Amino acid sequence: MDGADTATRIDRTDVVIVGSGFGALATAKKLAKAGTPFVLISETTEHLFQPLLYQVATGVLSPGEIAPSVRAILAEYPQADVRLGRVVDVLPEENTVVYEAGGQRLRLGYKYLVAATGARQAYFGRDEFADLTYALKTVEDAERLRRQIVRCFEEAHVTTDPERRKNLLSFIVVGAGPTGVELAGQIKELAQRYFAESIGNIRAEDVTVTLVEGADKVLPPFGGKLSEYSKESLEKSGVDVVLGTMVTDIDEHGATLTTPTTEETRRLTAETIIWSAGIQANDFADVLAERTGCETVRGGRLLVDPDFTVGRSDDIFAIGDMVTLDNLPAQSPFAMQGGRHVAKMIIGKVAMGTPFQYKDKGSMAIINRFRAITRVGKIELTGFIAWVLWLAVHLVYLVGFRNRYIAVLSWCGSFLGHRRPHFYYAQGAAPVPTAENEATETKDERPGDKEAVPASA
Ligand SMILES: Cc1cc2nc3c(=O)[nH]c(=O)nc-3n(C[C@H](O)[C@H](O)[C@H](O)COP(=O)(O)OP(=O)(O)OC[C@H]3O[C@@H](n4cnc5c(N)ncnc54)[C@H](O)[C@@H]3O)c2cc1C
Repeated sequence: MDGADTATRIDRTDVVIVGSGFGALATAKKLAKAGTPFVLISETTEHLFQPLLYQVATGVLSPGEIAPSVRAILAEYPQADVRLGRVVDVLPEENTVVYEAGGQRLRLGYKYLVAATGARQAYFGRDEFADLTYALKTVEDAERLRRQIVRCFEEAHVTTDPERRKNLLSFIVVGAGPTGVELAGQIKELAQRYFAESIGNIRAEDVTVTLVEGADKVLPPFGGKLSEYSKESLEKSGVDVVLGTMVTDIDEHGATLTTPTTEETRRLTAETIIWSAGIQANDFADVLAERTGCETVRGGRLLVDPDFTVGRSDDIFAIGDMVTLDNLPAQSPFAMQGGRHVAKMIIGKVAMGTPFQYKDKGSMAIINRFRAITRVGKIELTGFIAWVLWLAVHLVYLVGFRNRYIAVLSWCGSFLGHRRPHFYYAQGAAPVPTAENEATETKDERPGDKEAVPASA
C-alpha cells in the first residue's frame, strides 16, 4: 500500500471499473448503453474467454480467437475510456484509486468503483507447487502448456531411453473440476486422434493421463448421475480417475498421492503435472479488504453484502470470482449477472442497496469429443446432445462474429477431422534440451517457460 502519495496525476470519472473479464465487461456494456462515463483499467489488454482456454492449450483454437481486445469491444461507446494498468490501491475516504501504468503511478477519482479482478490458482499453502506445475488461467498459461504437450510428444517420439519416454508420456491432472476434466479428456484425445496420425511409434495406450481429485466424485458440484457419467466417460477414454485422494507432494519428476481414508501413499512419475484445484482471489481483493474492513473467506475471496458493496463502503462494489455471496458458483454467469446488477444500481434502474438475485440458467461441463453433461433446472442431459448444447452456448458467449466463425471452422476440423490447427510448431515448441543447455538450466525454470524457437531453428 505504500506509494499512494507518490501518485501524481489526478483526474476523475463517474465509474472506475477494474478488470476486463466477464464481470468487468458486463458492467461496462450496461453503463455504456446508458451513456454513463467510465474508465476501465485492466492489467491485460484482452477480454479473455477462460472457458475455452483448454482448447488453446490443446491446439484447437488460437489465443486471438478467445481473447479479443477489450478496447476494440468498447470502441463504439464514446463514454468508455479503456486504460492498460494495474490498480494497486484504493483510498475510500478520497474516492480515489491508485494505478500503475506506463511506468507511472497515477490517481483516478471515482463516484463508484466496481472491482472485478478475478482469481488465480490456489495452492493451499504449497506455493512452491506453482513452479512445478502447469496452470490454466491466462493466455500465457495456455500457450506454455501447449508448448509442453508438443515437446513431450516430440521428445517421446525420438528418445531411446524407455524410462524417459514413459515419463514424457505421463500426465497428471490435479483437480476434477471442469478444467481438470476438460484437460484430461483432451490430452487422451490428442494421443488417440492427433498424434496417433503423425507419430507412428506412440500408441494411445502409451500415454497415461491420471486425474486426481480430493472429493469422492468427478465434477463434485454436479454430483449424482452426472458425476458418475463423467467418471465413466473419462475411464472409457483411457483416463485413470483417482478419487478421494490428495496430492501431498510434487517435485520435478512426479507427485506423491495420499488417500486419507486408507492412509495409502503412492508415487507417480510424470513430466507434466497440471494444477487445477481451486481458486485464490487476486491481490486487489486483499487491498480492498484492508481498506474497507471487508471480511474474507477461504481463498481470500471477499464476503460482500447482498448488493455487492464491500465492507464499510457504499460506493465500492466487488463482483465475480474475487467475491463470495450465498455460495454461488465462481463461474461466468455469476460474474456477468453481478456486473449487470451493479450497473443497474449505478444508472438508477434499480435502487441502491437492492439485493442481488441469481438466475440459475443451468450448468454444463464438457468431458471429451461428443460427451458433455448439462443440468437445467430438473432436466439432466448427458452425451452428444449435451455436447452440442455446450458448443452452442459457448459460441453464443464468445465475443465477435469473426471469432465465432473461426471457432466453428476449427471445431469442425478438430472434432470431425483430426486437425489441431494451432499446433503449428513455429508458434512455439519449447527448445529441445541438450547436454549443454540442460547443464545451464536453472532449477526454477520449467521446460515450457523457455523462449519458443521456430521449427527450423
Ligand atoms: C480454465 C477455465 C475454465 C472455465 N470454464 C468455465 C465454464 O465452462 N463455465 C463458466 O461459467 N465458467 C468457467 N470458468 C470460470 C470463469 O471463467 C470465471 O468465473 C470468470 O472468468 C470470472 O470473471 P471475473 O470477471 O470475476 O474475473 P476474470 O474473468 O478472471 O477477470 C479478471 C480481470 O481482472 C484483471 N486484473 C486482475 N488484477 C488486476 C489489477 N490489480 N488491476 C487491473 N486489472 C486486474 C485481469 O487482467 C482480468 O482482466 C472457467 C475458468 C477457467 C480458468
